[in-house]
Amino acid sequence: MPKLDFSQMNQIEAKVSFEDTSIAFSSRSDMELQKMYWMFAAVHQNWMVWVGTNAIKYSFQMGLPIKWAVKNTIFNHFCGGETIEDCKTTIQKLADFGIGTILDYSVEGEKTERGFDMTAQEIMRTIDKAATNPQNVPFSVFKVTGVAPFDLLAKVQSGDKLTASENETWQKAQKRVDMICQRAHERKVRLFIDAEETWIQKTIDNLAYTMMAKYNREQAIVYNTYQMYCVASLQNLKDAYHQATMHNHYLGVKMVRGAYMEKERARAAEMNYPDPIQPNKEATDNDFNDGLKFCVDNQQRIALCAGTHNEYSSYYLTVLMEKYNIAPNNPNFYFAQLYGMSDHISYNLANAGYNVAKYVPYGPVKAVLPYLFRRASENTSVAGQSGREFTLIKNEIKRRRQSKKS
Ligand SMILES: Cc1cc2nc3c(=O)[nH]c(=O)nc-3n(C[C@H](O)[C@H](O)[C@H](O)COP(=O)(O)OP(=O)(O)OC[C@H]3O[C@@H](n4cnc5c(N)ncnc54)[C@H](O)[C@@H]3O)c2cc1C
Repeated sequence: MPKLDFSQMNQIEAKVSFEDTSIAFSSRSDMELQKMYWMFAAVHQNWMVWVGTNAIKYSFQMGLPIKWAVKNTIFNHFCGGETIEDCKTTIQKLADFGIGTILDYSVEGEKTERGFDMTAQEIMRTIDKAATNPQNVPFSVFKVTGVAPFDLLAKVQSGDKLTASENETWQKAQKRVDMICQRAHERKVRLFIDAEETWIQKTIDNLAYTMMAKYNREQAIVYNTYQMYCVASLQNLKDAYHQATMHNHYLGVKMVRGAYMEKERARAAEMNYPDPIQPNKEATDNDFNDGLKFCVDNQQRIALCAGTHNEYSSYYLTVLMEKYNIAPNNPNFYFAQLYGMSDHISYNLANAGYNVAKYVPYGPVKAVLPYLFRRASENTSVAGQSGREFTLIKNEIKRRRQSKKS
């Protein structure tokens, strides 16, 4: 199979452009767009995010009736609803534009065995939902820390001997992961295992590979996540591919850049070990794009989902697919973004015939607040995302005004 390098990029006509705001916001009414404008205008200001986040936290702590206001603003923008049933409208709205939904139960910070069991049951319900509507709900997803204690995952990774009761808890955690993957396998639903902090990630990787060996014999059902901001991830991906080849199973790959950079760097500095994160953004970008290429090069055994809001990487994958004659709708190649973000990428890719899905978080308003606060801070002007989102919204409002005049 021919190899492709970056220098060949501009010799290939890709079929997609992310410029078209009329496609990007085709699902939004004028009123919805105006509402988005005000919301992004607010999150664009760092001080507004800081004040807003603290005011919401305080109001919930004091039992003030703030739920309605949160629900009608950032919650509705970034989440599908409070329950799977609530997400029906969002699933259909995305499906109308050829975009799939990945139901993401976003309740964080469970610490009890009962809480882990309940989360596992909820994830099974998302799998059942996907099984009954595979066209519109093409994947399920879960975080291992939703079904197992964080500290225990870290202890397993450290190699320290577990106590008898820790060992019992660890056995139960592994059973939950197996139960979820088994359900996905029985119902033929592809399942992402999200990546988390590096000091628990090796434990998660090992669980994911055990599940793949068991359930990825006929096709990629279980997908592990590779955070390309880690120096080690590209090699880990290659090693996982060789293991999959040796043991004759498929490798499911969700590729992301990684969400915990500051936390990772701070911990490494505090505990005086080498920073696991790439030295700069360019190095992360290069490994992400090389990782995409590695997956395309080895497509006979790898199924890929590029989880990114990066225009270049999304475009690059379309170019690779074109170069290797991979049809845009090949089920082993997906693009994914978060609901409420980067619609210009999702809607334009879907419009050009590519497989696209959005993570649609859901859960009780109070329980998904940590998720919402992360999205709000990611969208401040310092982080840079909102600059782009805000400009696109303004452009579309302007375009609609002009087209009404003419
Ligand atoms: C569908 C989907 C699923 C996801 N699942 C996960 C998951 O399971 N686990 C997880 O951790 N994250 C996950 N993420 C979040 C993801 O890791 C990124 O944080 C986020 O998408 C931003 O990266 P980007 O590829 O969109 O592009 P960009 O906005 O181009 O890149 C921003 C990212 O680049 C990296 N970066 C920025 N500055 C530097 C620097 N100085 N040095 C090194 N690297 C730098 C960081 O990872 C940062 O988040 C997911 C995202 C999506 C869309």
